[in-house]
Amino acid sequence: MTAQNAPHFIRALVEQDLAAGRLAGRQWAGFPSDARQSASCPRDDPAALRTRFPPEPNGYLHIGHAKSICLNFGLARDYGGRCHMRFDDTNPVKEDQEYVDAILDTVRWLGYDWKDTQEDNLYHASDYFEAFYACAEYLIEAGHAYVDELPPQELRRRRGTLTQPGEDSPYRARPAGESLARFRAMRAGAHPEGSMVLRARIDMASPNLNLRDPTLYRIRFAEHHRTANRWCIYPMYDYAHPISDALENITHSLCTLEFEDHRPFYDWLLERLAEGGFLRRPLPQQTEFARLNLYYTVTSKRKLQELVSSARVRGWDDPRMPTLVGLRRRGYTPESIQRFCERIGVSKAAQWVDPSVLDGALRDDLESRAPRACAVIDPVDLLIENWPEGAREACEAPWHPQHPEWGRRRMHCSQKLWIERDDVRSAASKGFFRVFPGNRVRLRYAFVIECTGVDLDEAGAVVRVRARYFHDSRSGTPGADVYKVKGNIHWVSQDEAIGATVHLYDSLFTHPQSESAEADWLTLLNPRSLATVCAWLEPSLCTAAAGAHFQFERLGYFVADRIDHTAENPVFQRTCTLRQAAGA
Ligand code: ATP
Ligand code: MG
Repeated sequence: MTAQNAPHFIRALVEQDLAAGRLAGRQWAGFPSDARQSASCPRDDPAALRTRFPPEPNGYLHIGHAKSICLNFGLARDYGGRCHMRFDDTNPVKEDQEYVDAILDTVRWLGYDWKDTQEDNLYHASDYFEAFYACAEYLIEAGHAYVDELPPQELRRRRGTLTQPGEDSPYRARPAGESLARFRAMRAGAHPEGSMVLRARIDMASPNLNLRDPTLYRIRFAEHHRTANRWCIYPMYDYAHPISDALENITHSLCTLEFEDHRPFYDWLLERLAEGGFLRRPLPQQTEFARLNLYYTVTSKRKLQELVSSARVRGWDDPRMPTLVGLRRRGYTPESIQRFCERIGVSKAAQWVDPSVLDGALRDDLESRAPRACAVIDPVDLLIENWPEGAREACEAPWHPQHPEWGRRRMHCSQKLWIERDDVRSAASKGFFRVFPGNRVRLRYAFVIECTGVDLDEAGAVVRVRARYFHDSRSGTPGADVYKVKGNIHWVSQDEAIGATVHLYDSLFTHPQSESAEADWLTLLNPRSLATVCAWLEPSLCTAAAGAHFQFERLGYFVADRIDHTAENPVFQRTCTLRQAAGA
């Protein structure tokens, strides 16, 4: 079994539905439509099933959304279906075109498309405002809804609690004609915000609070980013969502577990509207799965928004953010995120995942396809005392050890090099095989050196390493293997190194479940989540294109920043370290 088709309960459900023929014979007019419209141009739905990804355009997508995107688009891909891209834009107050554009761009970047040669399934719930309204008038006429004029706090009080049943509103029994006239006046803008709402008439004593005459419409004199001021009444999410699913012929409406208690209302509403001839059968089925939570970060839109607006991060695409634009900037690839989503699976059990799982998916993706290069991110001076001054020796290394066809990169060894501070100790210590006085190591692709001394400053920090080299120890030349060394370190030559800005990251929060902390969550921010260093790169990186991924030998996977990187001012982000700590 490959990760691509890992089984889970929703796949099993889809397979059962397909095997039982429950999805066959559905009608699809070729566009979202109600029962009447699709009866006027009857055609079998060419899609075996339909799913949808329905974000509200009130923020940027994050890694949790990726789970939903991969699930919905993945099912459509694997079972001959279609996945619709739908904006759940029924709340005018928090939504914005900026978010719409960013969401579309991100879904495409992740590798999915709502458009193919036959269909273009990009929809907006706001396109269905007339249909929602027509359904509401029908519900009123059929006795399933009424306009309630109780003040909001009284409405809330009468809703009851988990242990106490609700109380009927005095408006519950009003005649349909009266509710209809009021509802039309609401639409016409005759009543102020908060003065009345449209409610379903279901059961004020239901143990499920969502069935205690939930609100369907409220008055909002707000400008909507697509419908401007055409409407002053807006449908509630719980009302708009099931109808949108039905109009779009969605077969499997997949959502996170918080909506489990809303399912009875979802079904109630669609049944009433199918009875009334508004919606065609079979009706969409809602199925819930556990939302993804990542340790050491937060994904609530409110919290992400606060991190951005309080400038604790540099923006929505700050590489420390769990947003998909942030992960992209950090260097996570679409393939790694898809792989991650397959790996974590889909179930109803609460899901907390360690970010190392994402790093593992990135390494598995890039190991075979990222070119190699050398960089020194914490440089220390190495002086080869017996190296002839001004001499240079060309050395070569493969762009990728498993891809000889990619060719080789060239660098020059010289008298003065940069090596990694972490590779140096001022004295021998147990288990340490790299640079210390008297020890020999190999400079990768070049010569074996023996450390002759380490110069320290007053604080005891290494300022310079001195060494001598063995001219007959050059890698790949006959006799070089006479030199047996345990350490093999990377380096760059001072006379040809390219200076670069490199950003190194640690987790954004110090507490694994910072998501669950409420009042004091900002105190859990990691003050060391970002370290920016001046690094030295090998000369072949002068041609690195913005957005290109590399494995910097022994240091991890890095990406040339997709926005700030230029040939003159190279900027790299460390996406993640290598599996193992740098070789001993
Ligand atoms: P908010 O933080 O505003 O509640 P939301 O999670 O409801 O955001 P939406 O834009 O409504 O965000 O989400 C779009 C889709 O993505 C929904 O179907 C939702 O269930 C799914 N989704 C959101 N967060 C997660 C998550 N952490 N794990 C899995 N799916 C998610
Ligand atoms: Mg939501």
